Parts: sequence; structure tokens; C-alpha cells
Amino acid sequence: MRDVIIIGSGPAGFTAAIYAARANLAPLLIASSVEVGGELMQTTEVENFPGFPEGIMGPDLMDRMQKQAEKFGTEIVYDDVTGLDIAGPVKKVTTGEGQTFEARALIYATGSAYRKLGCERETELSGRGISWCATCDGAFFRDRRVAVIGGGDSAIEEATFLSRFASRVTVIHRRDALRASAAMIERAQADPKIDFRWNTVVSGFLGDQKVTGVTLTDTVTGASSEMPIDGVFEAIGSDPRTHLVHGLLELTAAGTIAVEGRSSRTSVPGVFAAGDVVDATYRQAATAAGSGVVAALDAQAYLAELDDAANAQIGQADGNTATGNTQPVSDVVAGDKAATPA
Ligand code: NAP
Repeated sequence: MRDVIIIGSGPAGFTAAIYAARANLAPLLIASSVEVGGELMQTTEVENFPGFPEGIMGPDLMDRMQKQAEKFGTEIVYDDVTGLDIAGPVKKVTTGEGQTFEARALIYATGSAYRKLGCERETELSGRGISWCATCDGAFFRDRRVAVIGGGDSAIEEATFLSRFASRVTVIHRRDALRASAAMIERAQADPKIDFRWNTVVSGFLGDQKVTGVTLTDTVTGASSEMPIDGVFEAIGSDPRTHLVHGLLELTAAGTIAVEGRSSRTSVPGVFAAGDVVDATYRQAATAAGSGVVAALDAQAYLAELDDAANAQIGQADGNTATGNTQPVSDVVAGDKAATPA
């Protein structure tokens, strides 16, 4: 059995791994069978991660984090977690390939998943003109008209990226003000290929085999209209990826995993959460990394407390009995009643 398993390979997971590995906890990090690195793998240039004054591409940043985690002894498993058994002292993690890993502590850092509009025909036209990733699909829309839905940093970043390829990029936003950062807004507004459609929502998709247009609804007047378009990029935020811990961990009203104060301690002892799964507000690469630090330090303290308790119990048993009927520390399971001092 290991000391700690980390689930998730974004900035929170890898930073937790760097700290846990440097604390000699030899962490096992379960990444993903599809793509290691989380949401930053879909990002272009990251300009606000400290230490990179000239900016760094999202995938490069994640590659560096992975190398740093591995350098100190993190083992990485490229598989998806399909089951968790975390109520007891031994945390069991099952993966898609049927392997089960066990640890005394678990750090849960699975990030968030792109939100969908939920309107008609969205599912059938996904990948046929509807996308959630400009860096993945932007090049398919060379000299075409595309729309980006949303008014946050992601939408403006996607729009700016797409203007390299597309003939026209229309940002469709449900209000008349963007929530993206000023620097990004300035860049987009100065781009002659980008225009804005305010107070408007996409209420439906048009097209048979692929998207040919969208139905729009004016949020002020309620008027409907149609807009011919070749591609639509949805950038309307994301939701914490917590489906595996529903019923196992307490959640907040915002759907994030509930933690004690500024710690990463969840409702189950020995289970710690970090990154977007605990953060409904800030959700930055740098804050996720910081949150990973907190989780690794909390896990380290938890394991040290268990070891102290186990050692105290052994000391007590040695003092009280002449038979030496004790258990070696390494065999004492975290949180095991037998390991708890009387
Ligand atoms: P976000 O900030 O939550 O923005 C989501 C946008 O989508 C908002 O403008 C919202 O409108 C709109 N929206 C939400 N639901 C909608 C719906 N059903 N229909 C139409 N519009 C809808 O999400 P984000 O842009 O993905 O950013 C998430 C976090 O990552 C933020 O903290 C952001 O700063 C960060 N981020 C940073 C960078 C960077 O710094 N390079 C890049 C990307 C993301 P309202 O404005 O009306 O709520």
C-alpha cells in the first residue's frame, strides 16, 4: 500500500505530486487515458503563470510540471478512474483497465468539465461544427465564419485564437458587458476580424450533417433571428468534475467538494481535494497549483499523525507487555482503530 494517490493531472494534481514526492511520499498520480495535463492542454499562450515573463504555451507548462513531478519520484498511471472506495482507512482506487490501487491518503484533483448549452441538436452536431476547443479544432475553420459563445476569459481567448484562421469571428454574449480580463478584451476589440453580438443567446443549432447556422434570441426584446455560421465554439464556463465522489464526499451548494476552511480536508479523513473541484470562484492555473500545495501538505501532516499514533501505540504496548505483541509501523493501516491510541 502507498502513502498517497493523486487523481488528476492538471496544475493542482502535478503540484501536489511535486510536494508529496519531495516529502518522500512516493506518490502515484493517476492521469488520464486520453490526455495528461487537464484544461491547460487546450490553451494557447499562458501569460499570467508566474515565472514566465515571455508567456508559455499551456501544453509546455503542463509538460514541465509533469517532468518536475517525475524528477522527484512521482509514478504516473495513464488510465481513467472508474471507482472509489474511500470511506475506510485504506483508500481504494479502481481504473478503467481494472487495476485497483491502495493508499493511506488520497488527493482528489480532477478539475472541471466544459459546460454545454443544452439546446436542441447540440449533441448530434458536436464535432460537426460545434466545438469546445479552439486550439483543437480552429484550423478546420480556415476562411470560414465562426461564433464563440460566452463573455469570460475563455471566450475571448478562443475568439482571438480563432481570428488567425477564420474570416470572421462573432462573440455572442448574453449580456452587454464582458467578464474577461481587461488585457484580453483590449486585444479582441482591436482585432478587425472579431465582432460582438450583445444581449444574445444561442437557442438552437441549424444544419443537417453539420452546422450551417444558429437561432438567436435577444435577451432584452425576446426577438428571434437566425445567423448563418460554419462553426460554433462554446466557452460558457465549466463545472467541477465531481461525479465519482457523489454520495462519498460532502459537496457545496456550488457543486464543489466541501473542504474545512482554507485546508484541503474533505468530509472523509484521509481524503483531500485541490484545484477546480474545490474552487467555484478563482479557477486559475496559479490558484490550482497553490491548492495542490495545500493538499500535499495536509496529506503529509495526516500521514505523520497516523505514524505518530501508531508509534505511540507500539511504545505503549512495549511498556505494558513483556510479550512484545506489537505490529510494525509499516503494517499499521492509516486510521485503523488498532492504530488509534486508547
Ligand atoms: P467564466 O468566467 O465562468 O465565463 C463564462 C461565460 O459564459 C460568462 O460570460 C457567462 O455569462 C457565459 N455563460 C455561462 N452560462 C451561459 C449560458 N448558459 N448561455 C450563455 N452564456 C453563458 O468561464 P471561463 O471563461 O471558462 O473562465 C473560467 C476561469 O478560468 C475564470 O476564472 C477565468 O479567469 C479563467 N481563465 C483564465 C484564462 C487566462 O487568464 N488566460 C483563460 C481562460 C480562463 P455571464 O458573464 O453573463 O455570467
